[in-house]
Amino acid sequence: MHEKISDFRSDTVTRPTEKMRKAMAEAVVGDDVLGDDPTVQKLESLAAEIAGKEAALFVPTGTMGNSIAVKCWTKELEEIIVEARSHIYNMESTHITFISGVTPRPIPSKRGCMDPEEVERNIRKPTVHTPRTSLICVENSHNNWSGAVVPLNNIKALRDVADKHGVRIHLDGARIFNASLASETPADRYAACADSVMFCLSKGLSAPIGSMLAGDASFIEKCRRLRKVLGGGMRQVGVLAAPGIIALTEMRERLKEDHDRARRLAEAIAPLPGIKCNPDHIKTNIIIFDLEHKKYTVPHFLHELAERGVWALATTGGIRFVTHKDIDDEDVDRAISVFRDMLS
Ligand SMILES: *Cc1c(COP(=O)(O)O)cnc(C)c1O
Repeated sequence: MHEKISDFRSDTVTRPTEKMRKAMAEAVVGDDVLGDDPTVQKLESLAAEIAGKEAALFVPTGTMGNSIAVKCWTKELEEIIVEARSHIYNMESTHITFISGVTPRPIPSKRGCMDPEEVERNIRKPTVHTPRTSLICVENSHNNWSGAVVPLNNIKALRDVADKHGVRIHLDGARIFNASLASETPADRYAACADSVMFCLSKGLSAPIGSMLAGDASFIEKCRRLRKVLGGGMRQVGVLAAPGIIALTEMRERLKEDHDRARRLAEAIAPLPGIKCNPDHIKTNIIIFDLEHKKYTVPHFLHELAERGVWALATTGGIRFVTHKDIDDEDVDRAISVFRDMLS
């Protein structure tokens, strides 16, 4: 066993900082379901301001934020457009059908960018045979496309299509601040193209728990009720909102380090035998690459990496490495030398 593990599985493994732990201990709290928790209120207004929306809601998970948004914008028997590799369609245990009673219509994309014309062709009007399309979901940065940034222009074009047909847009911005930094585009400009946006505090921003859902005031009021329905009404939850405030105020800029490290790792491993990875595609903190090597299958390779203290995950596109606060230059160096050792 190694004393230290280099854990590249996800940015969700980040542990709260000392400052976050102190803020948790000292948080002023109240019963948030009764509207009494000043720390949660502070987090919610800060999140709304950053997203450029009227209001925001603190939710336990990104999945709950997405579920509530879909439920709020749709009625049973409708259809929603999702990107074929998106998290909301593939990784959230089908809450779309279970909670909202709508069917997803997956659209293939170029690295997370759906073609607006193709989206428009897939918007359906209700007939005796077909459902009405009520929502388009966009993901940015795009997890399963190796952290790709969906450009603002693409989302603007989708907005035009949505407006033309009276359809809503929900932005799954679990990692919107990664996309924002990488594209030098403020997060609120992306959010402005969407009716609602969800972003995670618990990923690269390193809070222990929590996500935010933002939109206009009447939407958030409805979402607050849906959160209670789903069992997400939490009481003295200022203890969790306090690190969330630090996540939003102090942890966004440092994501740049994660992007630089991901790029460095991708550049170092891309030329190795068996690795199928284009380092030019690595714009944020996620590297997904395929492995075709005579010596290793993917599970075997991951097992051998773990034996050497380097943890990563298998995903649909192959192997996923994620950089984050608790991965430093030494971890990257170690991963590179283990790769060279095993593959060369
Ligand atoms: C992690 C993630 C979510 C969901 O967040 P959880 O807090 O894990 O439920 C949603 N969308 C994307 C793109 C994610 O990466």
